[in-house]
Amino acid sequence: MVKDFATIDPATEEKLADIAQGGVEDIDRAVIAARQAFERGSWSSMTPSQRQRILYRLGDLILENADELAWLESLDNGKPVSVARVADIPLTADLFHYMAGWVRTLEGSVVPVSDIAVPGAEFHAYTLREPIGVVGLITPWNYPLLIAAGWQMAACLAAGNTVVLKPSEVTPLSILRFGELALEAGIPEGVINIVPGAGSDAGARLSSHPDVDKIGFTGSTRTGRGILKAIADSNLKKVTLELGGKSPDIIMDDADLEVAIPGAAEGIFFNHGQCCCAGSRLYVQEKIFDRVVAGISDYAKTIRLGSGQDADTQMGPLVSKNQENTVLGYIQSGLDEGAEITTGGHKVGDKGFFVEPTVFVNTNSQMKMVREEIFGPVLSIERFSGLEDLVQKANNTEFGLGSGIWTTDLSNAHKVAKAIRAGTVFINCYNVFDAAMPFGGYKQSGWGRNRGKEAFEAYTETKAVYVRLDGIHHTSFACG
Ligand code: NDP
Repeated sequence: MVKDFATIDPATEEKLADIAQGGVEDIDRAVIAARQAFERGSWSSMTPSQRQRILYRLGDLILENADELAWLESLDNGKPVSVARVADIPLTADLFHYMAGWVRTLEGSVVPVSDIAVPGAEFHAYTLREPIGVVGLITPWNYPLLIAAGWQMAACLAAGNTVVLKPSEVTPLSILRFGELALEAGIPEGVINIVPGAGSDAGARLSSHPDVDKIGFTGSTRTGRGILKAIADSNLKKVTLELGGKSPDIIMDDADLEVAIPGAAEGIFFNHGQCCCAGSRLYVQEKIFDRVVAGISDYAKTIRLGSGQDADTQMGPLVSKNQENTVLGYIQSGLDEGAEITTGGHKVGDKGFFVEPTVFVNTNSQMKMVREEIFGPVLSIERFSGLEDLVQKANNTEFGLGSGIWTTDLSNAHKVAKAIRAGTVFINCYNVFDAAMPFGGYKQSGWGRNRGKEAFEAYTETKAVYVRLDGIHHTSFACG
């Protein structure tokens, strides 16, 4: 019997829809479908020009249906529909347009080789770049369509793989609509398989499945660790991990504060703080500390909370009751450990998962709320004296995903960009994303990169081919 789960509107706590809940057997069936589609070559052996056209068409269809997709994203996730319309949806479409361009670059090279292994022999040697096979994708709820379809699937499909996706059970709506658009664009049946379901069940089966060749995972560091264990205990499939963050944002005393204050505020409060690279630890140089704290606190107070469906809303609810409890728990832990709130700190209203944008001072690197990822609209602001002190504080974390610096001194900007141990550095901006720029983490923020050439290459295998040309056929002795 098919089991259902309810997906709910986080602004009203009302049920939006019942979704069929995929489990272990559904994942198994999806993997068989993906394997058969891969072996048939209906996608991987399609001519590059055809595959490119279909992916480009899919990007176009996402744009043609942008209003509906943005509306679904807002309903299910809570984010303002206006934000989804200008950010999530066009960025997803752009990733399909961008990755369509890579389809025709899936090429190897001719490599000059020596005769050290077989003295006197002559070879023609070349490499082939091939798709990996069946890829399992497991994705979170903060950018449900952008991460599942854009960041993960576009590169995977461009390289000729077939896919089984387990989206977050909290936000399945937009990706299910995307599945229909993929068929409409001409993606052959069996190439994309979407199985909504629970992580502990469907997700766990996908990561331990013996016939899946790679996992692309975006989510928390804790779940990423579990996925690695499942991979080690099953078939050692390949893996890309995009994990959590606790990113430092920095304001130097020479910064243009008219730009830096709202910029740093949006660096944490955009998408309700539910961004993996959110600038959640702000370091401010001593001389301007009080002015920045006042400016960011004032900015936070003006953010209009409401349903994502209302045109006036600047910040919607958090995605779920669980997330609300987690965020309020971190706020309490900050207070318990002696930090001080300058604004926010409370739940708002009786219905919906609304939490005020919150700013803390008097924090330090030992506090739980400074060490751990909160994934909500909560900022800690600390002061620093000079560059050395700053770099030590900024890098004092187990994560390494994002970072930002606001300064008018070019030399300091580049010095800090080099010294920060993180996959992305934003200088005089924050949360800028482009299909062509790689994104990923140092340290415990992940393995590998999404987006850009790096993502495309990560979904390919390289094969080395040696052809002996001199006609002598006795066995050689080199071994690997
Ligand atoms: P989770 O790690 O809880 O979940 C991510 C996905 O993994 C979901 O689809 C979830 O399923 C699934 N999952 C849960 N348990 C397992 C398991 N045992 N085996 C396999 N899959 C499982 O993260 P959230 O969804 O809460 O997302 C927030 C996290 O994602 C934050 O830490 C954030 O930093 C990170 N993130 C990282 C990004 C990056 O690029 N580095 C980008 C965006 C988010 P389900 O929830 O349906 O049970």
